[in-house]
Amino acid sequence: MGGVKLGKLLGFDITIDWSWLLIFFLVVYTLANGYFPRLYPGFDIATSWLVGVVAALLLFGSVLVHELSHSVVARSHGTPVKGIMLFLFGGMSQTAEEPKSAKEEFWTAIVGPATSLGLGAFFYMIGGIGIILNWPEPLVAICGYVALINFLLGAFNLAPGFPLDGGRVLRSVIWAATNDLTKSTQYASYAGQAVGYGLMAVGFVEILTGGPISGLWLIFIGWFVTGAARTSYQQVLIRQALSGVRVEQVMTTDVPVIPAETSVRKFIDEHLLRHEYSCYPVTSDGHVVGVVGIEEVRSVPSNEWDVTPVGRVAHKVNSEYKISADEDAWNALARLADGNVCRLLVMENDQLKGTIGRDAVFRLVQTKLQLGL
Ligand SMILES: [Zn+2]
Repeated sequence: MGGVKLGKLLGFDITIDWSWLLIFFLVVYTLANGYFPRLYPGFDIATSWLVGVVAALLLFGSVLVHELSHSVVARSHGTPVKGIMLFLFGGMSQTAEEPKSAKEEFWTAIVGPATSLGLGAFFYMIGGIGIILNWPEPLVAICGYVALINFLLGAFNLAPGFPLDGGRVLRSVIWAATNDLTKSTQYASYAGQAVGYGLMAVGFVEILTGGPISGLWLIFIGWFVTGAARTSYQQVLIRQALSGVRVEQVMTTDVPVIPAETSVRKFIDEHLLRHEYSCYPVTSDGHVVGVVGIEEVRSVPSNEWDVTPVGRVAHKVNSEYKISADEDAWNALARLADGNVCRLLVMENDQLKGTIGRDAVFRLVQTKLQLGL
């Protein structure tokens, strides 16, 4: 996922997804044209927009504080957090591993909504003091909005559907009771899908009863939660199947290497059309110099197949393509899933030991799942 890196906070890299820029504009627009003018008819246009921008920034800050609280607690349990990605209505703390215990999961999850509800109460109080002290109306309006948004953030995230915080709490409770991470993830994921469909249903009712915009938002969020619940369960299954598996154990040693001077036609006829692999290492003088596959030869017009050597169209090998034999197979899959690299080369002292492709990793996962391993 691409995004804009904002910098470091408390040692975590903060990135915002591109979608956030659009959401930010939508939020400012809705606040300046709907929310604030309706609540405070006295605001002129400039005040409404200014208050809208400040309120949207504070919404952004509130989401960030929520995510920071997760990350700080995760880190204090010894789980490394790479950074925080903010997208749509929420964010995600990017952890490379599953929590180690139900207890860690519980505290890491619950701290987010607790922080949001706490922030909500804080701004509610400040707004109240502002009213008593006769602060300017825009200031009170902003406090009121930030209080509301934090209460909503806290409440929404408490919904008991994985991967929402409430769903993680649910998972940790089932996990503690059954001692089975996979089972508990499965149940929490079902709950997450139920929450998602529930939101979508409420959205449809909203639309039918005359709230098309809020209805569409709910349907969209519901759809998002449903999908996230499903994929995060699959991810746990894959991660578990690959836990403790090293690259060496999944790599193949029987992918033929292609000399760089081989013509594209010969490569297609003798390899692409004959073997199950779609991507091959290319060698020159006994050294691996590139990787070539369907994508690369597709760019060559068929009347030039005979005169074009694969070496000319192959991807040059750089560190992006190399992986060491004792690295985690999960890391290999994560790199292959990015989509830029079709096959990783397992190198040792400049010597090719084997290669690893997506297909092989998935086959292993599938086999292990079928065998119930
Ligand atoms: Zn959260």
